Amino acid sequence: MTGIAVYPGTFDPVTRGHIDICERALQMFDHVVIGVADSLAKEPFFNIEERLDMLRLVFDDNEHISVKPFSGLLIDFARDCGADVIVRGLRAISDFEYEVQLAGMNRSLAPEIETVFLTAAQRYAFVSSSLVREIARLNGDVSEFLHPEILRRLTEKLEASK
Ligand code: ADP
Repeated sequence: MTGIAVYPGTFDPVTRGHIDICERALQMFDHVVIGVADSLAKEPFFNIEERLDMLRLVFDDNEHISVKPFSGLLIDFARDCGADVIVRGLRAISDFEYEVQLAGMNRSLAPEIETVFLTAAQRYAFVSSSLVREIARLNGDVSEFLHPEILRRLTEKLEASK
């Protein structure tokens, strides 16, 4: 398969689960645009600049990946990127209902853009940004789930917010 895929999310912060989905998407598409939603309603822990910066750091040397912010409709962003496909990750049944609803809505708004789901790698199937933040806040070891520099930034920001 060729073409451009958009991988949207909040990435608050990027985890190894996200990285895994992105690397696997690259085996299917020429280019992956990671779309970082400002998600203001979710009141993210890291602001948009911090989240963009962390993703850029993690994927720095990969010319097939770009990292961009977006705040409007996902399909408008996908069109602006020239994408044919939206990639989403599925962890558990609990992701399924919302994701299918979202994909259905996006198909009705933009029938030319397909949503593709990749199932989470087993070792990251229970990893979410919010859980990782919560465990780290309680001094649990989350080093397995984060790039070392992301872990450093999370630890630093948690310290600063105490
Ligand atoms: P959102 O706010 O859109 O849920 P996230 O950053 O939480 O943003 O997730 C972005 C996408 O990555 C979603 O499709 C989500 O299901 C997927 N995802 C998140 N964590 C993992 C993981 N550990 N393994 C696989 N997919 C994941």
